[in-house]
Amino acid sequence: MSILVKIADLDLSGKTVLIREDYNVPLKDGVVTNDVRIKATLPTINQVLEAGANIILVSHLGRPVAGEFDEAFSLAPVAKCLSNFLDFEVALIKDWTNGIDMSDKQVVLCENVRFEHGEIDNDEELARKMAQLCQVYINDAFATAHRAQASTHGVAKYAAISAAGPLLINELKALTKALREPAKPVIAIVGGAKVSTKLTILETLLEKVDQLIVGGGIVNTFLKAAGYRIGKSLYEPDLVDVANNLMKQAEEQGCQIPLPRDVVCGKEFNENTSAVTKMISDIKDDDMIMDIGPETADHLNKIISSAKTIVWNGPLGVFEFDQFSNGTECLAKAIAESDAYSIAGGGDTIAAISKFNVEDNISYISTGGGAFLEFLEGKKLPAIAILEEAARAWTAMERAREL
Ligand code: AMP
Repeated sequence: MSILVKIADLDLSGKTVLIREDYNVPLKDGVVTNDVRIKATLPTINQVLEAGANIILVSHLGRPVAGEFDEAFSLAPVAKCLSNFLDFEVALIKDWTNGIDMSDKQVVLCENVRFEHGEIDNDEELARKMAQLCQVYINDAFATAHRAQASTHGVAKYAAISAAGPLLINELKALTKALREPAKPVIAIVGGAKVSTKLTILETLLEKVDQLIVGGGIVNTFLKAAGYRIGKSLYEPDLVDVANNLMKQAEEQGCQIPLPRDVVCGKEFNENTSAVTKMISDIKDDDMIMDIGPETADHLNKIISSAKTIVWNGPLGVFEFDQFSNGTECLAKAIAESDAYSIAGGGDTIAAISKFNVEDNISYISTGGGAFLEFLEGKKLPAIAILEEAARAWTAMERAREL
């Protein structure tokens, strides 16, 4: 893993520390309905407090219009939640960009950073103002690490010291273990609706894995490329050649892309349509493939049970409709039962993990949707890149001081 400055490397006593957290939590009627993300940040806050610092917390929530306060996107419910968990008041600061009056060992939360002009555009002036609020900036929000914005990127350029928080470091460690230094055999499962949105991921994974299981709408394009009739199933005609090339490339590299032998079809895309299991050779023109069949699920389970590392993104079928959820459920349970190091991420994947109650048996569930996918694509995440740059500068400074 790359070199980053960590909290333990720093003397934070008497300093003001600005921490970028991810408090983009679901709300209903002004109340936080899932506080997992908030709870996850408490160890970081306590560690920094114990080191003797003041804390300014910064986060976005949803997608408000910059420059307009909107109650629906206020972080007030998060401040309340934090106050309850920490057992002291965490004040919500509305006007914070020009300075915050703070007393010793205090924790404050800045109002939604996306209310500010310049956050999304990574504006230099806003980034500099944020940097001036603190002596140390800590980024602990992996889920926003793929975005170069003022609070995730610009501020790290201008802050005196920029470091990575423990949540961010754990996430990077887990992803690196699964992708950069995996125990073999490595099995990747890429499901979901479209090849087009996962093309780079498929290409990147193909070079790293022993078996690439494709599922969902994606497998329909591969089936078409392999010459099967797929009726009126969702597929992408423009990407049939690409799928063909990926299969050829896989063969050359000794990687397998197993295609389903049986599938579950419906006649319409809705939750009331009847599900019929068919061999792939029996698909009619009015059939829509919406899940893998039981024979295929059994075969995939065997592959999964032989894996030492499993990377999973995307459902194998329309798992939201119960009659087409069996393939994704079998897969989720097979991953949960496997001894392999397993890592999963992405919005629908997390929804499936929760629907089939396997949270506790997946080695690591990534908190990042977009950031997880970009990491899978092999991209450098801008918020991480800037922290690495800051770490190089900090290390050089420390060395010079020691001389
Ligand atoms: P993605 O956002 O690309 O991961 O796609 C997830 C969506 O793909 C889910 O909402 C699934 O219902 C949908 N999906 C999975 N399999 C199929 C399929 N065979 N046909 C149509 N949609 C599918």
